Amino acid sequence: MPSDDSNWPQGYDVAKLGLLDATAGCFMGGAVGDALGYPVEFLSHRETVARFGPAGIESFELDRESGLALVSDDTQMSLFTAYGLMSFVASSFMGAGHPPVERYLHHFYLDWLSTQGPMLADDDCWLLRVDGLHSRRAPGSTCLSALSSGAMGTIESPINHSKGCGGVMRVAPAGCCRRWSSSTGLTCGALAARTAAITHGHPLGWLPAALLARTIHAIVFDACDASGLEEAMSEGIEVVSELACTSHIQRLAGIMDEAARLSRNSRPDTENIAALGQGWVAEEALAIAFYCCLRYREDFSSVVRAAVNHDGDSDSTGAIAGNICGAIVGCDGIPFGFKESLELRDVILDLSREFNYGCQGTDQVVSIDEDVAWIERYGRLSL
Ligand SMILES: [Mg+2]
Repeated sequence: MPSDDSNWPQGYDVAKLGLLDATAGCFMGGAVGDALGYPVEFLSHRETVARFGPAGIESFELDRESGLALVSDDTQMSLFTAYGLMSFVASSFMGAGHPPVERYLHHFYLDWLSTQGPMLADDDCWLLRVDGLHSRRAPGSTCLSALSSGAMGTIESPINHSKGCGGVMRVAPAGCCRRWSSSTGLTCGALAARTAAITHGHPLGWLPAALLARTIHAIVFDACDASGLEEAMSEGIEVVSELACTSHIQRLAGIMDEAARLSRNSRPDTENIAALGQGWVAEEALAIAFYCCLRYREDFSSVVRAAVNHDGDSDSTGAIAGNICGAIVGCDGIPFGFKESLELRDVILDLSREFNYGCQGTDQVVSIDEDVAWIERYGRLSL
C-alpha cells in the first residue's frame, strides 16, 4: 500500500492537483456521510431525536473501542470500486483485449465479499491487507446474495430484479474516472451503470448510478459547482436516457425534478425528504442526496446532516450526498472535525492519489515511465 509521498512515482503532475482535491473530496465526503449516518441507519427519525436531541445526529458517534467514526459497506465497496476501475484502466492500456469492465469490478467485489467472511481471497489487491476493511457493517443483503451466487450480473443479463440502493451507493469513483481506452466504447454513465448492474438487475437499480456518475464527472472535470448542479443533473438525465426505456427514465426524471422543487421551499428537511421516500431504493436515495446538495450548496456539514436525519437508509443517502458535495468543495473544503476521526481516512487519501494518478490523465497512451510503474501496480489481473 502506498503510504507517503516517498512512494509516489517521480514526475507527479501538479496540474492534476485540483482533480486530486475534487476526487479525494468525493471519496472522503462519501465516507463522512456514511459514517455520520451509519449509527442511525435503522432508526426512525423519532428514535434518532430521542437519542441525539431535537436536531438529530449532527456529529460523529465515535466507536468506544477505537475512538473512530466507523464507515460501513457503502465506503468499503466504494474503495473496491475505485480499485477495480484502476485495474480496468491499467489493463486497457496493456492491450488486454478489453474484457468487459464488469469482470474487473466483479473480481474486486468478490475480494470485498471475502472481507465479510472467514475465507480471505487469494489476491494481491492491497486493500485486502487493510485490517480496518475486515469488518462487517450491515452489508446489504442484495450485494451479498448476488456476489455469493457465483454469477455476475450485467445490464443485458440481470442477476435479479433489485433496485435497492446498493448499486448507486458505491459507484461515485466511476464519475471521477476519465482515462480508459476509447476503443471500449464506454461513457462515464455506462461505466457506472455496468458497475451497479453486477448486483442490481432492475433498470432503476443501475440507472441512478449512471446519473450520479455523470453528475460527479461534470463537477470534477467540467467545473460544475453547486449553482450548476440542477442543470448538470438535467443534462445527465438526457445523456443516460440512451441506457434505459422511457418509463424508467420518466420515473428517475420525475423524482429528481421533485427533489429540486422541494429544495426551494421553506418546509423542514424531514418533511421534504419524507415526500421523496426513504432511500432504500436507488432513485429515492439519489433524489434525497440531490435535494440536500441543492438545499445547502457548499455547506458540507448541513448537506450531510440533512442527508442522514430521516426515517430511511441514512448511511447510503449520507454517502451519496457526501460524494456529490465533497467533489464540489474538495477534500480541503470538508471540515476538519469530520476528517480527523474518520476510520480509513489515510486509506481513502492513498487510494485517491493512486486513482488520480492513473485514471485522470488526458492522454490515452502510455508514454512515460511513471505510467508504466502505475500500470504494473494495478494491471496484474489477467482475465
Ligand atoms: Mg451501509
